[in-house]
This record gives sequence, C-alpha cells and structure tokens, in this order.
Amino acid sequence: MTIRTQLTLSYIGIVLLVLFAMGLFLSSALRGVLSDRITDELEVQAALTREFLLVELPETDRFSHKLIDGLVDRLGETGKVRLTFIGKDGTVWGDTERDGVSLIEMNDHLSRPEVQKAIMHGYGMTERESATTQTEYRYFTLPIERDGESIGFCRVAMPMETINTALSNQRRMLLYATIAGSVLAIIFGILSTGAIVKPIRRLTQITQSIAAGETTSKVEVKSNNELGQLLKNFNLMTDRVQKQIDNISVENQRLESILNNMNEGVLLVNNASEMTYANPAAIDMLNLPAMYAGKALIEINRIPELQALLSESEQTSSVAFAEIRLANLQESESEVTIVPVAAKSGYVIVIHDVSHVRQLERIRADFVANVSHELRTPLTTIQGYAETLLSSESKKSKKRKDFIVKILNHSNRLSRLVSDLLELARLESGDVELKVAPCHFSTFYEQIMDVFEPVLEESELVLKWDIPDELPQVNVDRQLFMQVFVNLIDNAIKYTPDGGEIEISANIHPTNTESADELVVHIKDSGIGIPLESQSRVFERFYRVDTGRARKMGGTGLGLAIAKHILLRHNGRIWLESELGQGTVFYFALPVLPAD
Ligand code: ADP
Repeated sequence: MTIRTQLTLSYIGIVLLVLFAMGLFLSSALRGVLSDRITDELEVQAALTREFLLVELPETDRFSHKLIDGLVDRLGETGKVRLTFIGKDGTVWGDTERDGVSLIEMNDHLSRPEVQKAIMHGYGMTERESATTQTEYRYFTLPIERDGESIGFCRVAMPMETINTALSNQRRMLLYATIAGSVLAIIFGILSTGAIVKPIRRLTQITQSIAAGETTSKVEVKSNNELGQLLKNFNLMTDRVQKQIDNISVENQRLESILNNMNEGVLLVNNASEMTYANPAAIDMLNLPAMYAGKALIEINRIPELQALLSESEQTSSVAFAEIRLANLQESESEVTIVPVAAKSGYVIVIHDVSHVRQLERIRADFVANVSHELRTPLTTIQGYAETLLSSESKKSKKRKDFIVKILNHSNRLSRLVSDLLELARLESGDVELKVAPCHFSTFYEQIMDVFEPVLEESELVLKWDIPDELPQVNVDRQLFMQVFVNLIDNAIKYTPDGGEIEISANIHPTNTESADELVVHIKDSGIGIPLESQSRVFERFYRVDTGRARKMGGTGLGLAIAKHILLRHNGRIWLESELGQGTVFYFALPVLPAD
C-alpha cells in the first residue's frame, strides 16, 4: 500500500469517525429538542383550546356531538394537532380525526392514561398508540373547569411521526455530509500527500541512480519543513560522497601510475592464493597471461619457492622474504617480499629483480679475488726472503733483525689477509666446490686441540668440549667446517681474558616446519662480550668492535664473514648472543641428516 493510499484512508477514517460520533450526538440532542418542542407546543395548544372551549361551550352537561365536533374541528384547522374534547363522564364530544357516527361510536375515554393523570395532577401527558387511529401519538390533557365544576377535558395530540421524520431527515443530512466529507477527504488526501509523496518518489529515483553509480543527481528542495531538511541533508551527503569519490579516484590514478611505472613487480593475491591484481612489471616478470585475475598463482607460474614463501607468510601471518630464482626471468635472481594485507584479506607480493645487483656483487668479488691473487705472489716472496734472512748466519746487528722480524710479521699479516679475502671471494662466488660428506661434529675435537692446545695452555684458558658422539650426523665439507671452528674458537680465545673458560657444546633443535631438525653448535666464552649495537654487524667483512685491539690480536676482520659464508653454502645459519663484560655465545645451525 502506498503512503498516499494509507494517508487518504486515514483521512476518510477520521471523517467517518467524526461524522458517526456527531450523528450519534445530534440524534440524541435532536430527539430531546424535538420532544421538548412538541411538549411545549402541546401545552400551548391545550391551554389555548381550554380557553377557547371555556368561552364557546354552552353551560350544560349534555352537549350536542354536532355542535362540539364542529367547534373542535374549527379549532383544529389552525394547528397541526389532533384535538379531542372529552366530557367529564368520558364521552368524546368532538375530535378532529372523527366525525358523525364514528365519533359517537368512540368509547369511554375516562380510562385513558392521560385523562387519568389530568384528573390526578391537573395535566396528563402520555405517549402511546391511539386505539382510534392506530398511530403513535403524544397526548396532553388538561381538565376544563367552570366555577370550580369540571365540565370535561381537552386533549391535544401530536403524532410521533413528526419526531421520527425529523430524525430521519437529520440522518439523511448526515449521510450526505458523510459522502461529501469522504469525497473531500479523498481530494484533501491526494492534495496533501502529494507534497510528501512527490519528494519521496524523487528521492527514491535518485537513490536508485546513485546505486547505479550516478552521483551528481540532486533533489529539488521546495520547502523548509522536516522533509525539506531531509532533502537538503541528502543533497549535502551526495555532494560529500561525490567529493570522496573524486578524491579516491585521484588517489587511485596516482597509485596506478606509481604501480604502472615501478620496476618492482607488485602482485595481489587473495586468501585462496588467487591473483587479484598484477602491475605491468609483475606481469612481465612472471609472464602472466592477460586473463590472470581469479587464477591461482601456482596454476600460472610453477615456482615452488614462491609458493613456499606464500605458505610461510600465511602460516606466520607476517612478512616473508626470500631470494628466489624466477625461471621466467632468464634465470634472474629476485628478492621477493610477501606482506599480509590488513584484516587478513590477502597478500601483497613485491618482486624486486636483483640480478643486476648480484652481477655487480660478483664483479666486486671477482675483483677482490683477482687482487688477492696478484698480491699473494710478491708477498710470499717477501715472506720467503725475510725468513731466509732471519735464519741466516749473517746477523750484523740487532736492529737489522728487528726490521726483519717486523717485515715478517707484516708480511704474515698481509698473507693472512689475502688468504682470507681469497677464501671469502671463492666462497661468495660459489667457485669452491664443496666436498661434503656425512660427519659427526664430535670427531673435530682432536684436530681442534692440536691447533689450540698450546695457546690455551699459554693463556690458562679452559676449553670444555661437550659434543656427544650420539648426536646425528651433518653433511658438511669437513675442511671448511674446521675453519668455522677455528675462526670462532680463535675469537673466543682472543677476546677472553686469561684464566677464562670456553665451552663448546651442541644440541638438536626441532623445527616446527616439515624440514629436517637442526644441529646447533654453541661456542661460549666468558670474555669481554660484544656491545648490542655491534652484534648485528660483526659478520660484515672488516667490521671490528675495536679496530686497534683486533689488529693487535692479529685478526683480519674477515673470520666471522668467512664462517657465515661457509654456513650459507651449507644451508645453515649463524648468530650470536652476548652480554658486555659477561661473554659471548656464537651459535651455528645445520640441518641434520636423516638417521638412515
Ligand atoms: P677479527 O679477525 O678481527 O677477529 P672477526 O670477523 O673474527 O674478525 O670478528 C669481528 C669482530 O667481532 C672482532 O674484531 C671483535 O670485535 C668481535 N668479536 C668476534 N668474536 C668475539 C668474541 N668471542 N668476543 C668478543 N668480541 C668478538
């Protein structure tokens, strides 16, 4: 049902209700008024008739029907009432409704209730059906007396039909009023609701067009009432929405131009790993088809590492980063970062092609390797000559010997430096072919003690070795791992004051992923420790906490960098924990070999 029909029906309802109530009230009021008027009229008529009859009636007890009925009829002509003259014995001598024989035949009227009341109270009024005329009448009777002697009764009567006719007239009037009221209610309903319905209809049309994407439409505001205010607010709202949309589209254009012109590939995937967006760089890097949207990443691009990285980010709900070779990019290397989008609605994959950077790194590493090679030969020669000079008999002066010692020390240091640089360069370039074989770390003990026993004794350091034979094997290049141990233990000795303690232990660290468990080796010292700000940097080549001290100790600043690269080549990792003045623990971890 429309608002218009609802309102019109309510108006009609109100009109009908009011008219009905009014009808009820008027009926009862009119009935009362008419009844009073009839009574008044009957009273007046009766009094006049009595006076008339008193004058006109002959002074006798026996009247002539003819004479009296003639008198009564004459009197009755003037009014609309029925007049009856009843003798004191109840004989009806005259009646406006009866003549001749029928008048004579009228029976004794003394028993009529109105006559009885008149005898008792001086007047009598009743409402009843006339036995003579069979119609409903209201009777009013007054006794007529002359000189204190009753001569009869004059009775006036009026048919009740008069009231009923008046009432039915009033009902008819009410019916006309109801019809007219309803017609007016309909017209008024249509006119008044038009002012409400029209703007609402317009509002509905505009909201439909807004829902369809058209936001510039406005509603015309014609009044300042509540509806007008609503329409004004609606227009304000559409203005704001339009502005927001404009801002968003400007922002979108900006973002789109950034994304389109980026060298990095940007890919959006939803929670079901289906691609929802890829910028041109990503399309190019991953060789995506034009209809990539909605397709699963793995379906289009079978790069297991990428899928694994996505799973990692999904599982940890955090940023995942890895360097991945994307086959589509002619064997190029890429840094891939996967970031979960807020509210876990998907992931942003950023692919950064680092082939060029890696190429530069390779060039640099090659350069260092070459330089080292070039340096090594003359240095070895210097070293040889100096050693010969030192051991020869011709020691002319102490000073000469001192020089030679210095030459030797420096050349030794240079040699170590160059060896380390060379080693590092070879590890980085991947030129070193790993001679991996399963081995127990517990078997390194003797070899290590051979190297360090004299130094340990000299500095009164205790080395505790706690790598049990039962620990699983690891697949390593034994020689390279010997170097890892040597570099780490050498540092522990160098940076632990005399009398300290070095503890080497190992345990198994279960990983929560499906990959193999890790064997973790701990090299703990009670030395000087490494300040927090240096802890993340000590694996950089040539980084030293205290350069002067480190040099004095004979270090090259490359020991930890070499250890790190050896571990990286073995798919392992290395890290440390340290407290200044308390000591340092270096950890390195490697995947263990399955028991069989
Ligand atoms: P270096 O040849 O100078 O020892 P490394 O790469 O082996 O070079 O170590 C880098 C720096 O890390 C050292 O110069 C030293 O400052 C710090 N360092 C390494 N191991 C320890 C340790 N066990 N305790 C304290 N500091 C250490």
